[in-house]
Amino acid sequence: MTFETPATRRVLVARPRGYCAGVDRAVQAVEKALELYGAPVYVRKQIVHNTHVVRTLEKRGAIFVEETEEVPEGAIVVFSAHGVSPAVHREAAERGLRTIDATCPLVTKVHNEARRFASQDYDILLIGHEGHEEVEGTAGEAPDHIRLVDGLDAVDTVEVKDPDRLVWLSQTTLSVDETTETVTRLKERFPNLIDPPSDDICYATQNRQVAVKEIAAEAQLVIVVGSQNSSNSKRLVEVALDHGADASYLVDDASFIRDEWLDGVTTVGVTSGASVPEDLVDGVLAHLAERGFADVEEVESVQESVRFALPHELRKDLRAGV
Ligand code: SF4
Repeated sequence: MTFETPATRRVLVARPRGYCAGVDRAVQAVEKALELYGAPVYVRKQIVHNTHVVRTLEKRGAIFVEETEEVPEGAIVVFSAHGVSPAVHREAAERGLRTIDATCPLVTKVHNEARRFASQDYDILLIGHEGHEEVEGTAGEAPDHIRLVDGLDAVDTVEVKDPDRLVWLSQTTLSVDETTETVTRLKERFPNLIDPPSDDICYATQNRQVAVKEIAAEAQLVIVVGSQNSSNSKRLVEVALDHGADASYLVDDASFIRDEWLDGVTTVGVTSGASVPEDLVDGVLAHLAERGFADVEEVESVQESVRFALPHELRKDLRAGV
């Protein structure tokens, strides 16, 4: 197949993109568990929301389950980066499972905030997406105190016990702009609503949104590499569309790109969600190069250097040389 290749065709690649510190840690936790203890290692839910990562780990001996009751008694189970509620920890203990908790420390921070405010009898308005694993885990920390606010429409209908004892928290992977709008609307309705002690939307989500805004301003098309169940990846599509891109699509890998998306396009932006391995972005760039988009420029908006240590259960066994 040959493609028209005007010299002006170029690709702007956002940086930062791809793996965040929490995803890197969670994937490494499963890999190290497989090395240390041998297959199978059970993982509750997708360790991170990426189809390719899950398939790769499955090939190495990880078994993904939806609930701990599917894990044989006494087996090893890893909890995903999105976190779990205390009830899940209890179920695992009752079944005698050996748990490795790969919850991202930035999700744990939100759990701790939820517990602290609940213990002071605050109602907590949790801004997030209903049914998302992270939201279920956080809500499980204080089910009697947490009220979910899923989208702007929920602002008018959410019910609280005491409007003067109210705090908001959020899922870590939301759109920064949309969350700001939601909080503004909440404060119009509840003027005494207090803010969390620090941002709940994590550094990686924020940085990837800043970076995609920069390339979207110059690109007609923005391709976001990520899976459909990845909240932070979906937000990148929305942010790209809000900041100048005529079109933006979420693709699991290069095979999802349709040639008609490139018709009349001279600048393509490329980025990837926080759970996406870099080889999938390389595949997209190779695919675009074959179609005349060989001029690739990386646009760096923010420098990142965050790293997290492996879960303590693994560090202990690694030190002991198990
Ligand atoms: S997206 Fe943010 S909260 Fe989620 S795993 Fe990555 S760093 Fe942690």
